[in-house]
Amino acid sequence: QRVGYALVGLGHLTLNQILPAFGACKKSKVVALVSGSPEKMQKVATQYGIKQESCYSYADYDKLRDNKDVQAIYIVLPNGMHAEYTIRGAQAGKHILCEKPMANTVAECQAMIDACKKANRKLMIAYRIQYEPHHRMVREMVQQEKFGKVKSIMANNGQNSDNPKHWRFNKALAGGGSLPDVGLYCLNTIRYLLGEEPTEVVGYVHSTPKDPRFTEVEEQVNWLMKFPSGVQTSCATSYGHHDDKNYKVLADKGWIKMDPAFPYTGLELETSQAEGKENQVIQHKIADKDQFATEMDHFSDCILADKTPYTPGEEGLQDQKIMEAIYQSAREGRPIKLMPVDKKDAFR
Ligand code: NAD
Repeated sequence: QRVGYALVGLGHLTLNQILPAFGACKKSKVVALVSGSPEKMQKVATQYGIKQESCYSYADYDKLRDNKDVQAIYIVLPNGMHAEYTIRGAQAGKHILCEKPMANTVAECQAMIDACKKANRKLMIAYRIQYEPHHRMVREMVQQEKFGKVKSIMANNGQNSDNPKHWRFNKALAGGGSLPDVGLYCLNTIRYLLGEEPTEVVGYVHSTPKDPRFTEVEEQVNWLMKFPSGVQTSCATSYGHHDDKNYKVLADKGWIKMDPAFPYTGLELETSQAEGKENQVIQHKIADKDQFATEMDHFSDCILADKTPYTPGEEGLQDQKIMEAIYQSAREGRPIKLMPVDKKDAFR
């Protein structure tokens, strides 16, 4: 039995990753499309065998309600549109898988959670890293203290993004700059690995003056987080430097390094520990799995078996709260304390 998905937004991620990923899915199939471009939609529908009557314009989005083939909607629109399309999708009676970042503000995230609860529909945020085998292995190493107690984590996710006209540089559509787009991977992955929530953050934000890309959103954010166990983490994200996507976990008896850590394929995992007097470095070879197929099948499984997704709306809301605190710290030039949260696993 496969859950039928409607894909909303036929941009880069949908065309290059999500649509091809259905080929590797066991519990998910694409049955409907929503797009503002009828020609593009026609081409995609023909290629993937989607019925003409299951192709919708944005104006017709709410008509998905009457399409019995669709059980779930996957929202792959600019960030500033996630809240509206999630809420309307839930009101149309469909389960929602929403791309990261969940939305632009804490208030929007809360409204999305409330709307899905009210409609008795499931909501999952597409944090593909949490379903990926390399990262799952690291989480296990951290949780089981394979290299002893974790002391600190450094994480970077940055790239040199061009095209100032793209929605990613528009505050209303993107919510922010590098932090919610790519820095979010550092934040979410660290919370995932540690299974606990930060109690304090300090952030710095910088944009190159007169760079046309950064009139509305930030170029670069560097931030520190403190966790209840004593772990301290340092993260960097940017739209202004050469590709760099990695993290390193330092524990008292060894370290774990993933570089690259955040692309769709080709992740490299390495660990080191003292072996006698030598420091032994081991490369861990794990086969890549399609990250989008894995996360979609997880959501389908939750729908079929009536379970809560591993990364529900509350997970996106928590990241949004922390990102807002990082921006506040940078604005006010002081550390910001966060409301204590019980173990992250309380979300599930
Ligand atoms: P994109 O610009 O390639 O696609 C966005 C789509 O939205 C386009 O088809 C565009 O036509 C449509 N759209 C509808 N209304 C629009 C408007 N008012 N302005 C601009 N576009 C509009 O972007 P993308 O890279 O596919 O990103 C889409 C979403 O997916 C974002 O939320 C992004 O953060 C997320 N994303 C996630 C990952 C991941 O690895 N999980 C990777 C890339 C993007």
